[in-house]
Amino acid sequence: MSILETGKGYIHIYTGNGKGKTTAAFGLAVRAAMSGKKVYIGQFVKGMAYSETKCSAYIPGIEIEQFGTTCYIDRNPDEEDVQRAKNGLEKCKAMMKSGDIDVVILDEITIAVYFKLLTDDEVLGALKVKAEHVEVVLTGRYASELLIDAADLVSEIQEVKHYYRQGVLSREGIDC
Ligand code: ATP
Ligand code: MG
Repeated sequence: MSILETGKGYIHIYTGNGKGKTTAAFGLAVRAAMSGKKVYIGQFVKGMAYSETKCSAYIPGIEIEQFGTTCYIDRNPDEEDVQRAKNGLEKCKAMMKSGDIDVVILDEITIAVYFKLLTDDEVLGALKVKAEHVEVVLTGRYASELLIDAADLVSEIQEVKHYYRQGVLSREGIDC
């Protein structure tokens, strides 16, 4: 059954502290694109080229834009980070509203809210105007209760084990 056949698109959240949230969203993007659907992926917080970011060059139907600079692990977000996130949300909102895109993915959007680059209300306002058939995926740790309430599908990926505890750093093609 296709998304277009049902006529309604749903809101997903992939959250939790385990690995696989962004991977799952990109997996869905590939699945949707291979069925002929159009996918738009906005990556919040991220500004670096990750391996998966290249997929738009190879897969017609997937467009990706980034709205971040670098990670905030060792610094506080500044005004430019806020402005980029707000512009990014406006872009995603326009994509959701137009209805020309079937699947809109807001990668790490819950992190943008957690770091106060965006508010829950701003994200909820964007979700509210989505065209009926558009499927939306929000990813990132620390999804707020308000966003979880607004979603139709919420998957929490829980870390049971992670090789970073063995000192294994991010590996290209596996983690980035
Ligand atoms: P992926 O992009 O692999 O699907 P994710 O989207 O679920 O992961 P994020 O929270 O976005 O996870 O984290 C990005 C990367 O950081 C992941 O590849 C993950 O393996 C790694 N990671 C997660 N927790 C830790 C940690 N505590 N220390 C170091 N690296 C971590
Ligand atoms: Mg992620």
